[in-house]
Amino acid sequence: MTIDFRSDTVTKPTPAMLEAMMRAPVGDDVYGEDPSVNRLEALSAELFGMEAALFCPSGTMTNQIAIKVHTVPGDEVICDFNAHIYQYEGGGIAFNAGASVRLLHGDRGRFTSIQVAEGINADDVHKARTSLVCLENTTNRGGGACYELKDVEDIRALCDRQGIALHLDGARLFNALVAKGQSAKDYGRLFHTISICLSKSLGAPVGSLLLGPKDFIRKARRVRKVFGGGMRQAGFIAAAGIYALENNIDRLSEDHDRAAQIASALDGLSYVERVLPVETNIIIFEVKAPLTAAALVEQMKGAGILAYAIEPLKVRLVLHLDITPEMVTRTIDVLSGLNPAS
Ligand SMILES: *Cc1c(COP(=O)(O)O)cnc(C)c1O
Repeated sequence: MTIDFRSDTVTKPTPAMLEAMMRAPVGDDVYGEDPSVNRLEALSAELFGMEAALFCPSGTMTNQIAIKVHTVPGDEVICDFNAHIYQYEGGGIAFNAGASVRLLHGDRGRFTSIQVAEGINADDVHKARTSLVCLENTTNRGGGACYELKDVEDIRALCDRQGIALHLDGARLFNALVAKGQSAKDYGRLFHTISICLSKSLGAPVGSLLLGPKDFIRKARRVRKVFGGGMRQAGFIAAAGIYALENNIDRLSEDHDRAAQIASALDGLSYVERVLPVETNIIIFEVKAPLTAAALVEQMKGAGILAYAIEPLKVRLVLHLDITPEMVTRTIDVLSGLNPAS
């Protein structure tokens, strides 16, 4: 048995999800004629209390489209040093939008309105124009940390005063909503645009959504075409997204409980230096040098457990729909039995 904690993207559709996909009514979505895509877009916009939504192949695309539409070349985007849009999107902010970045050094990927204020450039010909602030919730490289709503409200108020747009990379937003008892509408009201992934912990095989005002989504639809993201009978995968939104949100707390269980087992182990606080479905822990994350991941692989070395000393495990309670027990047994330093 292989137990795959590399990411929550590795889930496979369940029989019920596959059934929903096979039954999906479809049409050509580039013509706006796919009923399943249209339903998914309407449903998600409604869920967040936002005007419109756009179905895209990936979260990288929804983020990059948002950045492209919010900025003009030469603008500056404020984000955390650990943000996915900066770390893991292939330099897309420069490549796609011709924008530069101002990196903030937040607390596990989260920053405050005070930090944002320090990052905003003065209205001065020497300076790039700060036109966009991007938050990530939950934070990926921050180990699934969540924002408090109050901190987001402060950042939004600052953006409003300065005429700056606010985008949320909400690849794992539903984990935050469940963990914090917040609502999608809280976020719909606080952000100009939101990206959510259906292909992460919600268990759909493919797909992300960009949410925002109608005129923004109209522009985003053009950019999606330019980026090569106009899909034809995409209703088959949109149906998986509808199924995921209707069935897989409440169960996320199970992933959070299992992550907490594994984290507390890791906490006492001889080769573990420290475990980052676990708030949702991501565990990040640091190994004791001279042991390296890569060496530990290799040993774990030998025992059938897959994880990801995100830094020389840091290992990441992500819980998801396909991890059962038995797998959690087995993982704890294996990790407790390893003696990698010797
Ligand atoms: C996974 C992820 C994305 C999008 O990734 P894709 O693989 O392109 O769908 C965006 N932001 C964060 C924080 C992520 O973890």
